[in-house]
Amino acid sequence: TAPELPPMVLMLPSPGMGHLIPMIEFAKRIPLHQNLHITFVLPNAGPPSKAQTTVLQSLPNSISHTFLPPVTFTDLPPNTKTETLISLTVLLSLPSLRQTIHSLSVSHTITTLLVDHFGTDAFDVAGEFNLPKYIFYPSTAMSLSLFLYLPRLDQEVHCEYRELTEPVKIPGCIPVHGKDLLNPVQDRKNDAYRTVLRNAKRHSEADGIIENSFLELEPGPIKELQKGKPVLYPVGPLVNREVEVAQAGPNCSECLKWLDDQPDKSVLFVSFGSRGTLSSNQTIELALGLEKSEQRFLWVVRSPYDKVVNASYFTAESDSDPFDFLPNGFLERTKGRGFVTSSWAPQPQVLAHGSTGGFLTHCGWNSVLESIVNGMPLVVWPLYAEQRMNAVILTEGVKVGLRPNVGESGLIERQEIASVVKCLMEGEEGKKLRCKMKDLKEAAAKTLGENGTSTNTISKLALKWSNSNKSNVTN
Ligand code: UDP
Repeated sequence: TAPELPPMVLMLPSPGMGHLIPMIEFAKRIPLHQNLHITFVLPNAGPPSKAQTTVLQSLPNSISHTFLPPVTFTDLPPNTKTETLISLTVLLSLPSLRQTIHSLSVSHTITTLLVDHFGTDAFDVAGEFNLPKYIFYPSTAMSLSLFLYLPRLDQEVHCEYRELTEPVKIPGCIPVHGKDLLNPVQDRKNDAYRTVLRNAKRHSEADGIIENSFLELEPGPIKELQKGKPVLYPVGPLVNREVEVAQAGPNCSECLKWLDDQPDKSVLFVSFGSRGTLSSNQTIELALGLEKSEQRFLWVVRSPYDKVVNASYFTAESDSDPFDFLPNGFLERTKGRGFVTSSWAPQPQVLAHGSTGGFLTHCGWNSVLESIVNGMPLVVWPLYAEQRMNAVILTEGVKVGLRPNVGESGLIERQEIASVVKCLMEGEEGKKLRCKMKDLKEAAAKTLGENGTSTNTISKLALKWSNSNKSNVTN
């Protein structure tokens, strides 16, 4: 008989660093002793980005990658949403995925195809090769539950979800208002909704779903999902522990140095992820709120989305003040107590730093998990995607965050910000949240430690995927 070829898992993240990075963190934890090889197969709508190649090239030998030929879109309506573009990229890449599987099969036995929640069209190709199909879901078990529940909700509800008077009861989850569901389901006539729904419907075809969360963080939805199909594999919290300071941004090492000089747990870190921006008026309120709170802060501040680009914008004069949208005198008045940067901050290191005592976050799931592994209590300020649902988990579920209220002006006002920040950093309630966060941090360390639940789940998957001949049968 022919010698057995070594087993290989194909991982196909849909375009976007937010999909690639957690999948890589998962791949890195697959135990090497299983002799299992992993290949990332990357669909793209253009040439590979610097960010993609940098992270992929730094991976160990057992993980390789191949970029599929870039796809081109034709006849797309204007304003086509990102979700549609991402999913369409995967769909248009299926012929080259097929070819790639053929050529990799010469040297390896492909045992599994893993996609993410926007890549389920690739299940067609997995079917042709008789490969088991897995989904890696990079966000919460709550939003995964919504994905699985969406086909039914779509049948039963006839209006926009935000018009529902009763909260939506996703099985196992804290009831949530329709207006707080993920962004792409907010407009049911939009192509983004149809894309999400199409992918959601195909989730039931998966042999298993890998979820970047853990039981102590989301007991309700995880227990509920574990009762049904597909099989749920909670493996979280998987996070990037360190960003290269040199790569991150010009102020990176300066901001860590500044933190070194601050008292223990005294600094509030303020950041809205990779894309979050506020309006001009909201930015001013936030600045004045931070000032009024009298706390130390490290703020990754972005230009407001509605900032007026005036004629002097391109002159040297305005170049010299990149913070001209902040209130007059704010930087002088908070000097020493506040550090403001417009460039990327090394967030994992900032959250792990002893001087950091709290985090005002937009609730992106990576930011949330990074806060948990560092035991950092939160002020929650959700902006887009599934962040309003994440805020519900944090404030009503595990109770590790405070949420400032929106005032009559439609803004979160300075007084409210100041009092919530003060409460988190100095108040009794802040202490309680810190304690709860500490428990979660310990639970996270345990589940990812030796013999922890997430670690064992990953080993179980690795074993399943290494048994090349048997895996198709036993799945
Ligand atoms: N991040 C960072 N520095 C910044 C802003 C963001 O290192 O100044 C990292 C952060 O640590 C996290 C990711 O970027 O890993 C943001 O992911 P998240 O899911 O929180 O939010 P998104 O940007 O996808 O909305």
